[in-house]
Amino acid sequence: MKRAVLKKKSKELILHSLTKKTKENIAIIKSIENFFIQMRGYVFKMPKPGTPVVVSLSGGADSVITTAILLEEYGLEVFPFFISRGQKAEKPELKSVKYFSKYFSKHYPNLYHKPVIMSVPNPASEIKHLLKESLIEGTGYPMRNSIIIEYGAQYAFGLGSEGVHVRNIFCSFVACDGDFGAQTSMTGLRSLMQHICIDMGDMTWQVTALPLEKEMGFYLDKDDLLRWAKSVDLPVENTRSCFGSQEKHCGVCYACKHRKISFEDARLEDKTKYLDTRASKDLP
Ligand SMILES: [Zn+2]
Repeated sequence: MKRAVLKKKSKELILHSLTKKTKENIAIIKSIENFFIQMRGYVFKMPKPGTPVVVSLSGGADSVITTAILLEEYGLEVFPFFISRGQKAEKPELKSVKYFSKYFSKHYPNLYHKPVIMSVPNPASEIKHLLKESLIEGTGYPMRNSIIIEYGAQYAFGLGSEGVHVRNIFCSFVACDGDFGAQTSMTGLRSLMQHICIDMGDMTWQVTALPLEKEMGFYLDKDDLLRWAKSVDLPVENTRSCFGSQEKHCGVCYACKHRKISFEDARLEDKTKYLDTRASKDLP
């Protein structure tokens, strides 16, 4: 099969789509983007092939496929990191990370590096009990994603001691992630890029979610990523979406439900092993 072309949209159309999202704030996006145009003349530029970048790799379909796109389509040198933060699904997530690390090392031996596994509870174990489900509904764990990305910035900066200059951090939120919290929105991402540039006193830092990078014309969802992955024979059934700790996907949690629907939307066979095999449309 021929490699699928990633769907692109105009910046105006993407901004228009963002106006319909309750967690997005177009005025903030425009203000931060104007800041970047003033400070460095651009908002985001895709690094040239061979540029070293840091990538947040969780073992989920979105992060695995995003990593594959950065390697295959853009020829970037990828330094992945995984955060062992106290999540229930850590073991199966790590299994996916290890599987795809082997896969990427084989297919891109000159570009892909072994992932760094960072053990940093997020939120801190001592306060996690305070952040009850009812309290964090609509926000998720406060600052969870910015903390993850900040660890990525520390890793990127630290690579300097090995003579590797890294100022690009990629993550992989998709369009619908912005429905659930400001921290996974385009607005949140732009704010994070500004924060890291200011905090580091260096305006060359770039922080983005590739599937949402408006400057690249992307406003992609999981089904778009799955279609691309299929066209390059990436074995996505080995990625991990489920929030549960069991080996197989539960088939009923939000992440599983979204995974099933995305395969349906992409009109692709879902080879994931589920404990509960009911079709997603039958789920509550
Ligand atoms: Zn599940």
